[in-house]
Amino acid sequence: MVMQTKFKLNQRDSVWFHENSGQVNQAYAKNVCDIAILPIGAIEQHGPHCPCGSDTFNAIGIAERVAEKTGAMILPSPMYGSHPHHHWGMPGTIPLKYETHIALLEDIVRGAAVAGFNKFIIISAHGQVSSMIVAVHKLGIEGYFTISSTWYDFLRDNKEVLKDFMWHADEAETSVALHLYPEHLNMDLAEKGGGHGLVDSKWKIAPGQAAMPGMMYHFEGTFALPEKDDLDNGVIGDPTHASVEKGEALVGKCVDYYVELLEEIKSKYPCGINPLGFRNPLGYEGTAAIEYDKDHDDKGQLK
Ligand SMILES: [Zn+2]
Repeated sequence: MVMQTKFKLNQRDSVWFHENSGQVNQAYAKNVCDIAILPIGAIEQHGPHCPCGSDTFNAIGIAERVAEKTGAMILPSPMYGSHPHHHWGMPGTIPLKYETHIALLEDIVRGAAVAGFNKFIIISAHGQVSSMIVAVHKLGIEGYFTISSTWYDFLRDNKEVLKDFMWHADEAETSVALHLYPEHLNMDLAEKGGGHGLVDSKWKIAPGQAAMPGMMYHFEGTFALPEKDDLDNGVIGDPTHASVEKGEALVGKCVDYYVELLEEIKSKYPCGINPLGFRNPLGYEGTAAIEYDKDHDDKGQLK
């Protein structure tokens, strides 16, 4: 029997880390591309017409397209995500606490780095910046170059495609779902939804919307009633405006931006370079002891 690494070294069987052998992943990160994408979403109710895994499926669909175009490896998606506390008690939603999610992201990145990956791009399709940015900052001071992003960061004011700004299980999310996994949708059950906000929605930046003066991030402040009491049918927006074409346009635009970002990282920091130039297992406690590697000067600038 020929050993797998003999004929697959430096090639990958799959864009997915967990579908390759450890040896293939190591050789690929060393010689071909050391960028790893971590798609994350949530298990969350998405109205009567979309599956509870919608956010995770959306992140996976985008990640696969970006990985195929850039050569980045995709780390297995953990399915569950973190949630603002007003999501607790909503049937169909299984929320992780922020602490659980921060620890999960940290451990995944640390583990993948052992195989030789040096750059980590988190692609989230769920509103979980509250835990993502904490994990990314902690990983940063440990020497792991990690970018966290949410796919709708790339849809600012995208009224070219959408009738309404994106919210939840709505025109935007349902369009993406129709494009990526129509077999899991029941569009005959799709209906407009809404809630009963404590303050006028003009104060809140919708996911993906460009901010105007006086607008606050939607999870800032005590805007929300418990979601189980607030929402009519688990939907915020109007999924009856969704279409396959809109989904294809949104995903395409989003993938193009991610590809541009990854190509920039690849050209600035070739395979084998850790952009931060250090690994600091002591984290916060060890910042005085940081020593830059041979690729960086003593101020952390790439030579
Ligand atoms: Zn969603």
